[in-house]
Amino acid sequence: MKKCLIAACASLLLGTAAAYAEGISVTAAGNTPTITGDAKNFSGQAAVDLKAAGNSGRYGSVGQVDFMPGARTAWHTHPAGQLLVITEGRGWVQEEGHPAREIKAGDVVWIEPGVKHWHGAAKDSRISHLAIAYLRDGKGVDWKELVSDDQYNGR
Ligand code: MN
Repeated sequence: MKKCLIAACASLLLGTAAAYAEGISVTAAGNTPTITGDAKNFSGQAAVDLKAAGNSGRYGSVGQVDFMPGARTAWHTHPAGQLLVITEGRGWVQEEGHPAREIKAGDVVWIEPGVKHWHGAAKDSRISHLAIAYLRDGKGVDWKELVSDDQYNGR
């Protein structure tokens, strides 16, 4: 360090700082885009806050999804699977051909690739979950038909 001139040291430190700045990006709270769940893919009111975009979305899609009571996804599959982390409220996840399962804040759900399912809120509660879908050939979800009221009520 004795031989390190102030200018050279500063350059070295700044260089390191710049490298970190290029390798890590911080998006401040509230600055990720929120979209309304498309009526083709959601019943009821759902808001999707897109947490991953550009480079951070290379390997998976990450969204914080807020469902109002009774709202749910359409039936769908994930080509490379999906992880749900329930952050608030209570609701349901159902695999086709199986009874629906109640899910609540703190629960973690893993959905295997290709498994047809839906997830959403209970009739009398909101639910929020972080949805992490890995990508296969750039695709994270294959949407199918809406979950009918009869299917939702009869689960
Ligand atoms: Mn899903």
